[in-house]
Amino acid sequence: MPSSVVISARGEQRVRAGHPWIYRTDVMNVEAEGGDLVTVIGPRNRRLGHALFSDRSQITLRMLNVGEGDAGHALIRSRLERAIAFRESLGIDANAYRLVHAEGDLLPSLIVDRYDRHLVIQSLSQGVDRLQSEIVSILAELLRPEGILARNDPKVRMLEGLEQTVEVLHGSVPASVTVHEGPVEYDVDLRTGQKTGLFLDQRENRDAAVRYARGRLLDCFSYNGGFSLRLAHQCAEVEAIDISADAVVRIRVNAERNGVPHVVAREANVFDELRRLERAGARYDTIVLDPPAFAKNKASVANALAGYKEINLRAMRLLASGGYLITCSCSYNVNEEMFGAMLHEASIDSRVPMTIVEKRMQGRDHPVLVGVPETYYLKCFILRRVE
Ligand code: SAH
Repeated sequence: MPSSVVISARGEQRVRAGHPWIYRTDVMNVEAEGGDLVTVIGPRNRRLGHALFSDRSQITLRMLNVGEGDAGHALIRSRLERAIAFRESLGIDANAYRLVHAEGDLLPSLIVDRYDRHLVIQSLSQGVDRLQSEIVSILAELLRPEGILARNDPKVRMLEGLEQTVEVLHGSVPASVTVHEGPVEYDVDLRTGQKTGLFLDQRENRDAAVRYARGRLLDCFSYNGGFSLRLAHQCAEVEAIDISADAVVRIRVNAERNGVPHVVAREANVFDELRRLERAGARYDTIVLDPPAFAKNKASVANALAGYKEINLRAMRLLASGGYLITCSCSYNVNEEMFGAMLHEASIDSRVPMTIVEKRMQGRDHPVLVGVPETYYLKCFILRRVE
């Protein structure tokens, strides 16, 4: 018996509006097991399409296709092919980038990142776990990588009742791989680095910052130095701050490798450090704020906004006249409008008039699916202190 799930009228409306997620509250009847590829049936017994079913998550169904078509091997393969072809068409000057961005490539809850001749895949649902070996063999055939690593260790897998594992699924994966992003070279540890190793979603924002950065640069939440290393050649002094000792070691290694010894990294809490620098009367020509997601869920939005405002208003005060602030948020619960309103308040409270030079988002290899706000998570505004 093929698996099927019947959903409510409201669920059907969401499917018709193009949203790939159906929540548990809109599920009426289940004849399926966790991880099954199911036929989705509307309240009037109409077949609506196919989805990956989860018996644990609040997101019970992730739509793979809408309408009559099949959702088997051929669909998965063609979606992977399209995702890869799109990246190849972008002319990305890097050999590390995202190949598959889950919902943004109509492959919900699947991430695939390329690090030169190695791939890292991440499965975020029971359904993708079930398809994982099929996906790995398609990727191996299409891309002929030297190795494929599963970084199945993000916490969200717990919501699906899935274990956290890191394992090589194909070929071999060395302890460290070398990749380049534009002119910058990195050593990346794919097994333990944050996300899948690097923050690939910021590549184009780092490139954009090249147009403005100069003088003294303060790179806050620097991780292994993405912004610092990209901007170092045009900045006389570079200070990078991260709370993680491991990140500070990585930035030092990468600064050495890229021949930019004036990048000075230190381990500190940015909140404390900005306050201290303000008291000390420090001034910077360029400041980057790239914090982790402060709002992990809707309940934490108010606190998150207070945190964003705090660091932004202090950064505005630390800027020299005519200086640039590159400020980011990767919390999708804080949307662009809320982020803009927070920056407005920070400018009022700091009494520093700022102009918006650019409004940016995650790189093009992390596509946003129209009508699905969850896929637009990274905001990056470039502001200028007017006087
Ligand atoms: N800017 C980086 C990515 C930053 S990710 C890039 O371009 O690649 C966020 C970083 O913030 C992580 O490395 C994390 O260790 C650090 N972090 C989190 N909370 C912090 C805090 N309060 N102070 C300083 N660093 C913090």
